[in-house]
Amino acid sequence: MQNMVILGATGSIGASTLSVIANNPTEFNVYALVANASVDKMLALCLQHQPQYAHMVNEHAAKQLKAQLPISCITEVTTGAQALNALVTDSRTDTVMAAIVGAAGLVPTFDAVKAGKRVLLANKEALVMSGELFMNTAKISGATVLPVDSEHNAIFQCLPLQVQGQLGYCDLGQHGISHILLTGSGGPFLQTDLSTLSAMTPAQACNHPNWSMGPKISVDSATMMNKGLEFIEARWLFNTQEEQLKVVIHPQSVIHSMVQYRDGSVVAQMGNPDMRTPIAHCMSYPQRIHAGVEPLDFFKVGQLSFCEPDFSRFPCLQLAMQACKQGQEATTVLNAANEIAVDAFLKGQIRFTDIADVNHRCLDSVQQTRLASIEDILQLDEQARVTAKSVIKTLN
Ligand code: NAD
Ligand code: MG
Repeated sequence: MQNMVILGATGSIGASTLSVIANNPTEFNVYALVANASVDKMLALCLQHQPQYAHMVNEHAAKQLKAQLPISCITEVTTGAQALNALVTDSRTDTVMAAIVGAAGLVPTFDAVKAGKRVLLANKEALVMSGELFMNTAKISGATVLPVDSEHNAIFQCLPLQVQGQLGYCDLGQHGISHILLTGSGGPFLQTDLSTLSAMTPAQACNHPNWSMGPKISVDSATMMNKGLEFIEARWLFNTQEEQLKVVIHPQSVIHSMVQYRDGSVVAQMGNPDMRTPIAHCMSYPQRIHAGVEPLDFFKVGQLSFCEPDFSRFPCLQLAMQACKQGQEATTVLNAANEIAVDAFLKGQIRFTDIADVNHRCLDSVQQTRLASIEDILQLDEQARVTAKSVIKTLN
């Protein structure tokens, strides 16, 4: 029985994780659920899953939850950074699902890595900000980091066993690997007339053709910043050299990514676009469990198509690839700027195409700093948010 802590339990990945657990109740126990402020959702989850702990980052939400939980429910409600640290590092915690959205997920995810836990990583922003430190820390602590992001999970599945066991520092070339092909659907605006992009609404941007996800990652998919963040995520997870990583647009989202070998072989992982597959894979690795996902029906799939990304349509992808080359200061700044810009877009304060402009201008402001610790990274993240907000003011 694995005791699981789910960070971001009330979100889309949280729901999929709980659904996989419900399919495999003898193998996984919901030990703790963590969310920001959604009291109603957390209350329902506590009643259904009876976790030992329910942690609300928002203090007021924790109070409300405590007041609403019936006495018959065994769940203890906690709040505060210390209590969160205690939950992820607790000796009873075996596995941490890291599915808080954005930079907010960095600290608890990093704490779990430092404590040597089995970390199922959905929170890509944590690696975008701290990749080198994160993977080095995992190596030292002995934490097992397993990628939940569907593309990285696909790549992981297509890699040789020895590489899977040395994530973050393995030399891919020594294992006959020439390229990692990171696939992406191109999102809802792949075919949209470029001249109309600036008028796209949050609802249109969140209407992804293949995946159902939280609002932030949905907008990131529309700008393809998501693929950019994934490019940086892959760089650290798989220790890729610049020329080893390529982005391929594949609108059907049937192939979730591929690994190309020296001998001409290409190994791909396929499946229906349902996050329960990579989540179940990470939860049970190296075994396989039922995820509750429909088997892929090749007779219904029809055609698979591929094309190169067009940077004039997806400038955010190009910015992220450039930041990846520049280093951790640039990726941290870009990630923070993007979170602020996406939030402003979702609130109707800026246009869809302004997201790339805000990101571009913040990336131009990056200066060389020393990022030796999580505290350094968080400080730079904070500064970049201030810059992004002031850039947004100049747009209005
Ligand atoms: P979501 O918006 O549906 O859920 C976000 C969760 O994070 C919620 O439980 C919320 O309470 C919690 N949260 C938000 N701010 C917080 C804070 N300050 N402190 C603590 N908790 C906070 O997001 P999602 O779509 O489930 O995505 C979660 C993460 O997984 C993201 O990093 C995303 O990039 C990654 N991811 C998601 C998908 C997907 O299909 N949804 C796929 C791949 C990767
Ligand atoms: Mg992905």
